[in-house]
Amino acid sequence: MKRVTVAPNLALATFWADVLTQAGIGATVQRAWASSIAGEIPPDQALPEIWVRDDADLDAARRLLEDLRRTPQHDWVCRTCGERVEGGFEQCWNCGAPMPR
Ligand SMILES: [Zn+2]
Repeated sequence: MKRVTVAPNLALATFWADVLTQAGIGATVQRAWASSIAGEIPPDQALPEIWVRDDADLDAARRLLEDLRRTPQHDWVCRTCGERVEGGFEQCWNCGAPMPR
């Protein structure tokens, strides 16, 4: 087991772990439980982490996540209110609806 990276939130951690799993890399999210007690422990210890089960997958996992972060994010149109939302936002700033997948 080796730690690949720390995710800023649980949603992203789960998404990254899914991407790695789909690429054939055994990945798990650790410390996911910590978000429920955030505030009682230092913030940097409350963040979810991505771990690979097989140490040999570490480099491949890091490369995959790097690629993911470099992917340009495009504007999208909210299905609920029709508002155009800038890339980088996962929620409509107008009505709060989540970005369509
Ligand atoms: Zn909207």
